[in-house]
Amino acid sequence: MTTLADPVPGGRPGDVKRAGALTEDLSGRGVRGIVLAYVDTAGVCRVKTVPTAKLASAAAWGVGMSPVFDTFLANDSIVTTDTLGSPDGDLRLYPDLDRLVALAGQPGWAWAPVDRITQEGAPHPGCSRTALRRIVTEAAELHGISFKAGIEIEWAVGRGPAADGAFVPAVSGPAYGATRQVELSDYTADLLAACEEQGIEVEQLHPEYAAGQFEISTAALDPVAAADVSVLVRQTIRAVAGRHGLVVSFAPSVFAEGVGNGGHLHLSAWRAGVNLHSSGEGRYGMTSEAESFVAGVVAHLHALTALTAPSPASYLRLKPSQWAGVFTAWGRETREAAVRIITGTTGLTDRAANLELKPVDLAANPYLAFTGLIAAGLDGLTSSAPLPEEITGDPAMLTPDEAAAAGVRRLPTSLSQAVKAFRADERLRAALGPALADAVVAVRFGEVDSVADLDDEQLAAAYRWTY
Ligand code: GLU
Ligand code: MG
Repeated sequence: MTTLADPVPGGRPGDVKRAGALTEDLSGRGVRGIVLAYVDTAGVCRVKTVPTAKLASAAAWGVGMSPVFDTFLANDSIVTTDTLGSPDGDLRLYPDLDRLVALAGQPGWAWAPVDRITQEGAPHPGCSRTALRRIVTEAAELHGISFKAGIEIEWAVGRGPAADGAFVPAVSGPAYGATRQVELSDYTADLLAACEEQGIEVEQLHPEYAAGQFEISTAALDPVAAADVSVLVRQTIRAVAGRHGLVVSFAPSVFAEGVGNGGHLHLSAWRAGVNLHSSGEGRYGMTSEAESFVAGVVAHLHALTALTAPSPASYLRLKPSQWAGVFTAWGRETREAAVRIITGTTGLTDRAANLELKPVDLAANPYLAFTGLIAAGLDGLTSSAPLPEEITGDPAMLTPDEAAAAGVRRLPTSLSQAVKAFRADERLRAALGPALADAVVAVRFGEVDSVADLDDEQLAAAYRWTY
């Protein structure tokens, strides 16, 4: 369970002593430096690093970094809001020592996610990890609800590096093909070993559909931990690939056409150890609260897309009939609905039942994505929102009349549409807080402007190696 308390100047209780012991252990294992990581509004993971000997100081006083990155675009240009984007000011980055881990794929380095506070000790309003800790705390305090969460990671493995930034798939065989598994046998075995050494519980690893594509899924954790692990796994996938002379792309669409890289979110709500998605009299065993939670997610989907598909390139991926879930609908095990209800197999439903949100890619800041998803679900839960009828099959096959009758709508087809929906969604904006919500709007519109002159292939190329 993630520490939900904010960092404080001088360190969270016990952290400095603990950092001292960790320093000794890490130094003994040849760890020279610590990577301090967070994900910015645009979805780019930004880091500072400190020598291992400075860990205790970082745990006590944090490490300085400008707040300007909250309004960085993916191409490193900067936009501004009323409160963010200025060259002034500084923040303190505090590592979460519970999550500190020696990096198996990067000998000599350890890694930890950070929370950011001001120099005066207040939580930084632009810190997305803090926003997620807040809403998880609120769910526990106001509703007695906790969550289990996970993020699937799809990525494309290429032979690299190609001089012109092109992507050359590292495998040639069919989707889910044994040939791909054999071709990258050493890489994937090293990846599994690295995850295990880092204490990451992998559920599955398989060759996926698109050119060079693989997928990894990890065990469910609390949402903050799940977001942390998603960042760490991607760092690991990239590092291990580099040691094999391979390059990786987590871009929503490696190419303009065809199936993209998803980053589907999984979430279940629990109360007192009971899974609300499997212990009720509602559809597929959902409690009435779980049904309303799902209804809330479906109701907020348009706005949520601004958090879960935050790149102009996300909309190359978000196309019908490619399992990206681009319709406002839910269905049991329906891979074309935005919300796929998973019951789990008989005998496992109490543990396995959850909802999967599909219109999510890995340009998404995972902390923002989970904050939005939980806010949407809690909005449904608190208003006892009725869950609409489920759909089966591909909504793309419905006639316009059938779709209207079923309340099925196409999700935004562009980032600007999604941001306009987000801007109008009071509940999601409130979950982020005004500073972060304004940053989301400014950064997304900045991204849209930055690629206005590009055609689809140029757009895919622009973001191919960014995330
Ligand atoms: N690659 C698909 C996507 O863009 C997902 C395939 C799957 O359902 O695993 O989300
Ligand atoms: Mg997949």
